[in-house]
Amino acid sequence: MKYATRILHGAGDRDPFTGALSMPIYPASTYHQKDISITQEYDYSRSGNPTRRALEETLASLEEGAAGYAFSSGVAAITAAITSVLSAGDHMVVTRDVYGGTYRLLTRYLDRLGITHTFTDTTDPEATERVVQKNTKALFLESPSNPLLRIIDFESMRNIAGRHGLITMVDNTFLSPYFFQPLRFGMDMSIHSATKFLGGHSDLIAGAVVTRTRELGDAVRQVQNTTGNMLSPENSWLLMRGIKTLRARMEMQAAGAMEIALRLKNLPWVSEVYYPGLTGHEGHEIIKSQAGGYGAVVSFNADTVTRAMSIMKNVHYWTVAVSLGGVESILSYPVKMSHAAMPAAEREKLGIKDTLIRLSIGLEDTGDLIEDLEKSASRL
Ligand SMILES: *Cc1c(COP(=O)(O)O)cnc(C)c1O
Repeated sequence: MKYATRILHGAGDRDPFTGALSMPIYPASTYHQKDISITQEYDYSRSGNPTRRALEETLASLEEGAAGYAFSSGVAAITAAITSVLSAGDHMVVTRDVYGGTYRLLTRYLDRLGITHTFTDTTDPEATERVVQKNTKALFLESPSNPLLRIIDFESMRNIAGRHGLITMVDNTFLSPYFFQPLRFGMDMSIHSATKFLGGHSDLIAGAVVTRTRELGDAVRQVQNTTGNMLSPENSWLLMRGIKTLRARMEMQAAGAMEIALRLKNLPWVSEVYYPGLTGHEGHEIIKSQAGGYGAVVSFNADTVTRAMSIMKNVHYWTVAVSLGGVESILSYPVKMSHAAMPAAEREKLGIKDTLIRLSIGLEDTGDLIEDLEKSASRL
């Protein structure tokens, strides 16, 4: 089965009871047990629900994993993935420019429970291996990272994990399984904020974890059932609805992103453009050899802060908002939005300037999107 077919028919595409082409929403909390001496597939919807199950099978199929689980949000998925394998006393090595919510989870919650971490530049394999400790149990990776789209070499990461017996987790939100499947590179868990590209329509909050082995999947399911952070049947259905067009959206949005990145490079008031598809982008050759595409997020530095402000105040078609991955194009200002909680000195170290604007390319006409940026940039 080719990937385009897998998206629609890999799993969970039809209701097993009626053949309906859209899996029904089963809102039931509980299920009649005909014979209590026999274990049924479904007995209580926290533990298992047919609509969620169909989605989870779809997610596992998309990532070519042994098992998939759907959560109430991306951060719920990340929390479940980490706590399914780490306990008090364990340590993890984490991508330095990790998603803000993951940063908060590690620094203000998991450390309180005795799970410690070291942030490192995971684009540098030597630096990554250097911070592995005796009690390190996992490697948590995010690539392309936010907002500068830094690229990790997963081949090197697999080797490091192999040498030290680490479990590898990848936040695969930015590329979606359509462009990258971490498990095929020997990673153990692929995690998503399904709120973004998987859902694709800015109309739900959801998360996913897919595991390479059934054993790890069982550990994740234990946490899901124990902590009750699963996705509702209604949102499971909506997410499946969004996933059906994953290929069409990713292809078009990535093509739009490439076009916009190239146009931005030639504008006099743009000083730097970050897009993994550009040949000059650091790590371009690595992502080119490991992924099927470069995603639909582009960042750039305007020449001045005044210019960046003017763009944000005057755009019409771009929605100025946090989040990304939807069919409507979104423009965000990391310093005041996604990275506002990060100390200025830390931002500076990572190269996140106050002239930086992050774009998530949707499905509008790219000419209109560029014209909108140009016009708003000239209204100083
Ligand atoms: C949005 C996002 C998350 C968090 O997902 P939520 O669905 O908002 O909880 C995690 N990782 C990345 C890379 C994200 O962009």
